[in-house]
Amino acid sequence: MTDPQVNGVLATAQKLIEQHVLCDRCLGRQFGWLSTDTSNNDRGHSLKLTLCMIADEQLKSGAKETGSDSIRLLASNGMFNPAKTIAGKNNIDYETRDACHLCSIDEESVFERVQLVAERIVGLAKDIEFETFLIGSIPPPLLVERQDELSGIHSIMHAETLKSHFNRELGIHLHELLKKPVNFEKPDVVFVYSMDTDEIKLQINPIFIYGRYRKLVRGIPQSRWDCKKCRGKGCDECDETGRKYPDSLSEYVGNPTQIIVNGSKFKFHAGGREDIDVLMLGQGRPFVVEITEPRIRTPDLEEIAKSINSEAEGKIEVHNLVRTDRHHLQKLKEDASTNVKEYEALITTDRSVTDDELKALEKEFKGVEIEQRTPHRVSHRRSDLVRKKVIHEISLEKHKDGLLKANFKVQGGTYIKELISGDEGRTTPSIAGKLGTGCVCAELNVTAIYSDGP
Ligand SMILES: [Zn+2]
Ligand SMILES: [Zn+2]
Repeated sequence: MTDPQVNGVLATAQKLIEQHVLCDRCLGRQFGWLSTDTSNNDRGHSLKLTLCMIADEQLKSGAKETGSDSIRLLASNGMFNPAKTIAGKNNIDYETRDACHLCSIDEESVFERVQLVAERIVGLAKDIEFETFLIGSIPPPLLVERQDELSGIHSIMHAETLKSHFNRELGIHLHELLKKPVNFEKPDVVFVYSMDTDEIKLQINPIFIYGRYRKLVRGIPQSRWDCKKCRGKGCDECDETGRKYPDSLSEYVGNPTQIIVNGSKFKFHAGGREDIDVLMLGQGRPFVVEITEPRIRTPDLEEIAKSINSEAEGKIEVHNLVRTDRHHLQKLKEDASTNVKEYEALITTDRSVTDDELKALEKEFKGVEIEQRTPHRVSHRRSDLVRKKVIHEISLEKHKDGLLKANFKVQGGTYIKELISGDEGRTTPSIAGKLGTGCVCAELNVTAIYSDGP
């Protein structure tokens, strides 16, 4: 073994106490990553005790001066009780210190506050439903600087930070009071304590609810649509409503949900969108509603569905609500452009079309890949590029009043209106192109979106 007096843990501990007032916790923390099954407090205490025993031996074996110096240091800078007793017995004077260099704010250790902070957090959290939590803290910059300086000067490689040490002690107290586990990955709530200002910030993480919506009335946009002129403030053009459309799917779903879980905001995410004038029928379109700062995390989902459906008065309907998580948002997005969708449409044609032509058309579009350049009507909000989409099947029949009735089974993200009209050559092939006559989509409904559950 190397001589502990010359180098290593003990020598470093001695040098630290020679220069600074350090409590057991903070001395021990300098070696926090060394050894296991102990605490920083015990590490610090053990180091001081060892130094104290060495000094006492020196006193007893005649090395009075060296021994006295060490005892004086341990009693003052070390604030170490056994050293104070030995100093008393041997008439060694020492200065009384009580503010640790690394953990004191206004002459008092932040660790003294742990119990009180824990109790305050319990009070703060009493009306909030959560299963797991995490503690964060912000140490004063001065104490962080002091630690960095010390680590630099003494080449300390195995110190734990004040922040991590404090968080752990607070976490232990809280765990006892709350009887709930800490979760580092996905905590329901996070409490952040600022040591300088003595403030506790509460962060409630969002919840996510998956479901499917049906839209049963035309003229409802998916998201809230403000008046262009006044941007929501209210003006002549919008009759002071501030809006271009009075309602939206996202509000029909989000508002009742937000109220029931007592949240502060909502965000509505859907797997694709239908145009304002298009219905969403069948089993509906998948969506996830995200609620910010919910006070209730495990709401009665039936109650939410009922509330949404009754407030929407038959304009929209939701069903199959389940709790999900943030990962679902990405899946929702990816699915929207790759899954299979079905539509029904009414088509007007510039000339009358024969049954044979329709039969031939059905054949030509079976399992074919088409190219769609971004349509004129959405080019202001989507980048101009050519997308390849698979048309699985189209069926066509004559309808009353010279209209065609069509059913489509296509890859997600296909623009059906343009598949019908050709969009001035931007979609090829198209129904209008193949028939050699003008075709316009008069009415469109989404009838099925194939997608796995949550
Ligand atoms: Zn300390
Ligand atoms: Zn307006």
